Amino acid sequence: MSFAQAPTGALQLKWELQEHGWATCNLSNDSHQASLVASYCTDALADLVAAAGGLYGQQRTTRFFFDAEPQELRWVLRATDAVIDVTIYEFPDVSVSLDLPDTDGTAIWQSAHSRRLFSHAVLSAAQSVFTEHGEAGYQAKWMLHPFPVALVQDLRRLHLRDDACGLSHDLAHP
Ligand SMILES: [Zn+2]
Repeated sequence: MSFAQAPTGALQLKWELQEHGWATCNLSNDSHQASLVASYCTDALADLVAAAGGLYGQQRTTRFFFDAEPQELRWVLRATDAVIDVTIYEFPDVSVSLDLPDTDGTAIWQSAHSRRLFSHAVLSAAQSVFTEHGEAGYQAKWMLHPFPVALVQDLRRLHLRDDACGLSHDLAHP
C-alpha cells in the first residue's frame, strides 16, 4: 500500500458513536480512507483532541492508541515546523503490543497536513459529535467517559490563536 504525502492535503475526520462504548473514527483524504474502531477502554476522542493540542507546545512527537479489542491502533503524530505527519499502526493484540516499537506494527494510515488543517479536522469532528448527541447523549453511549469539553476548548483556543482559522468552532448546544 502506498500513501500520498501531501502536506496541504485535505483531511476529513468523522467520529461516530456506536452503542455500548464503541466508536468509529473515519479518516479520509484525497486518495485514501480508513475506518478505525475504538472501545471505551481508552478515552479515544479525548486522547485525539489532547494529542492535537499538544502539538502547539514543545512536544514534537505524540503517541496514543485506540483499543479495538483486541487490536491496538497506535497514532503517531510528528510535528515538523507547522506540518503534522500522521501515521497509524495496527498491532494484532493490545495486551502485548503497548511496549513494542512502531516498526513492529503495520502502517494502516499515513498522511501529512498543516497543523491548521489537522486541528481543524479534529475540532470539526468533535463539534459534530457534540452537536449530534450533546453531553448527556455522548456519555450515554460512550459510558465510561464524558465528552471532553475542556480539551476541546483548549484545542479551539490554540487553533484560533495560532492558525488564523476563520471559523469560531463554538460547541453548539443542541
Ligand atoms: Zn478551524
